[in-house]
Amino acid sequence: MIKVTDLKKSYGNFEAVKGISFNVKEGEIFGLLGPNGAGKSTTLEIMETLRFKTSGTINIAGFDLDKQPDEIKKIIGVQLQTSGFYPGLKLIELVELFNGLYNRKVDPIELLAKVNLEDKAKAIYKSLSGGQKQRFSIATTLINDPKIIFLDEPTTGLDPQARRNLWDLIKNIREQGTTVIITTHYMDEAEYLCDRVAIMDAGKIIALDCPDQLIDQLLAAGFEKKKETKGANLEDVFIQLTGHTLRED
Ligand code: ADP
Repeated sequence: MIKVTDLKKSYGNFEAVKGISFNVKEGEIFGLLGPNGAGKSTTLEIMETLRFKTSGTINIAGFDLDKQPDEIKKIIGVQLQTSGFYPGLKLIELVELFNGLYNRKVDPIELLAKVNLEDKAKAIYKSLSGGQKQRFSIATTLINDPKIIFLDEPTTGLDPQARRNLWDLIKNIREQGTTVIITTHYMDEAEYLCDRVAIMDAGKIIALDCPDQLIDQLLAAGFEKKKETKGANLEDVFIQLTGHTLRED
């Protein structure tokens, strides 16, 4: 679905992405992981046609990024940062606005139902909880019925219930046949969600495989955890005590 070959990006003299190559398969959830400054957002935004590359080739769903960027724009969904929405508009009005921008006629209630926000159709954006805002921003990526969606740290700042709820939503979207590219700082999230992950550091991909394989490779290399791990962690305690039910405020 996506083929990136020898992608490089320099900002002035600084090379932020140093010749990376990877493929993303149709229907997979592909994670881009790495510490701050690794080059994840740069890579993502180049694929989203929002930033120019310095060199390399990118093919998305058969379209060359240099020659057919408009074709690529039609088949991708890009998640805006949650600050990108007019705070005083109702969700239904925001969906209408996006309908206009994308030249679509998506039924707002149907779209909101995909992310369990149909009850909030008449609520104004700024009255939503963090999790609801994230769900809404994911809904807006689906307006043009994309083949691929790009999610940049979709669960940052959410409580454990809202994160788990969003994971289910992302898996659901993939089950409808959409390919998902996601960046995250949460390794538990990547392990749970991603079919394959690319780990970036200082502009390079230093590992690319399914999470299970990467863990097995580390173990095969003789890695041992220092502390005996318990069969549960503090998050399990938290979820056990406070339940899976989504809290919205
Ligand atoms: P990540 O998303 O992994 O945190 P980024 O792609 O945002 O990494 O940034 C990679 C590197 O490029 C960082 O060192 C960052 O400071 C630098 N960088 C990002 N955008 C710009 C820009 N517009 N101008 C100059 N340097 C930038």
